[in-house]
Amino acid sequence: MLNIRIGNGYDIHRLVPGRPLILGGIEIYHTVGLLGHSDADVLTHGIMDAMLGALSLGDIGHYFPPTDPEWAGANSLVLLEKVHDLIQAKGWRIGNIDSVIVAEKPKLKPHLLRMREKLATVLGVDIELVSIKATTNEQLGPVGREEGIAVYAVALLFQGS
Ligand code: MG
Repeated sequence: MLNIRIGNGYDIHRLVPGRPLILGGIEIYHTVGLLGHSDADVLTHGIMDAMLGALSLGDIGHYFPPTDPEWAGANSLVLLEKVHDLIQAKGWRIGNIDSVIVAEKPKLKPHLLRMREKLATVLGVDIELVSIKATTNEQLGPVGREEGIAVYAVALLFQGS
């Protein structure tokens, strides 16, 4: 019997000067970067929350609290690996992931393939199973004013064969 579960994730981080912009484990040149306790990789965070949500395992704040110095400046790909280990230990595998980054600037399209390659490699899945899209917020709201970058993600997990 094939069991399937679906989860969604959302995250947003503030853009500030003096920080690198890291999305999907890729550093992208920009005048501002994302603020956070870890490397603030908002894409990887959204995807982790979708994976955890699929199994009703809570959210990343539960596993990697922003108050814990162990995760200060953490590479979010390491956290993704831990979340992946957790779902694998419960016998679940990734069916597919879909995500959308909402950012006014910079242009992300040229970087999407590298992000997909990076995340697929960390998760040990085919790149075809990791979709990353990018859109602007049409200059509306805080994301539209370039105050932050938001991500929506969905993950489908399966168990059995
Ligand atoms: Mg986050």
